[in-house]
Amino acid sequence: MESIKTDTTIKEYQAFIQKVYGLPNDRYFDTWDMLNNLGRFAMRGMKGIRKNDKEKATNNFIIALSWFMSIMNQLHIDIEQETWERFPFFCSYCASYPCSCKENKVKERQKVVIDDTKRTKTLQESQDMFQGLYPKEDRTLEHAGIHLSEELGEFSEAILTFRGNHNDTDFEKITREAADVISCFIGVFNSLNVNLAEELSQQFSNNCHICHDIPCTCNFTFITEFKS
Ligand SMILES: [Zn+2]
Ligand SMILES: [Zn+2]
Repeated sequence: MESIKTDTTIKEYQAFIQKVYGLPNDRYFDTWDMLNNLGRFAMRGMKGIRKNDKEKATNNFIIALSWFMSIMNQLHIDIEQETWERFPFFCSYCASYPCSCKENKVKERQKVVIDDTKRTKTLQESQDMFQGLYPKEDRTLEHAGIHLSEELGEFSEAILTFRGNHNDTDFEKITREAADVISCFIGVFNSLNVNLAEELSQQFSNNCHICHDIPCTCNFTFITEFKS
């Protein structure tokens, strides 16, 4: 039996998703199908925000994030590493902590020097870092949702470009956009007052959160029609 613990790292969460969903993902879904599911569940999460239904929003964003992890697995992107390189206790744009983009009207991306001794270890530590970097008090939940939508769009564009040209510099763009997507997912969970590691440990306490098998044995029609 595989489970996610409250002290999980992002890397362990990604590995869990591979163990449980790697086989059905390989068999049933290409990147486009998975992007579709990522978007589908993220938008259901947005509906939860609009309807003021925190549980609906949380459940759907957790499923969306897990589809995102499946894409990371298929593309062999180490998202924990990419996230740290993009957000090493600094805003990736203004290079300050907390972010000062608004006050200082930063127009150009600033260079950051990464101090690996500060590296966050667990998902919980990363969530805390993002709260310090982009405090939820500075935005509304709706704003956090809109920002996630924007980043999901940019992530899709990056994949579309890479799959058009098969160019390695385009692939790097995917990894950067992926880190932005994760930061926005965590921002939404901060705005929802949801402890992500805690929530994941409840959803994924025993293999697949629906069929409880490893690998997951949920059938194709069930997965594609699944709603939360
Ligand atoms: Zn900033
Ligand atoms: Zn399943």
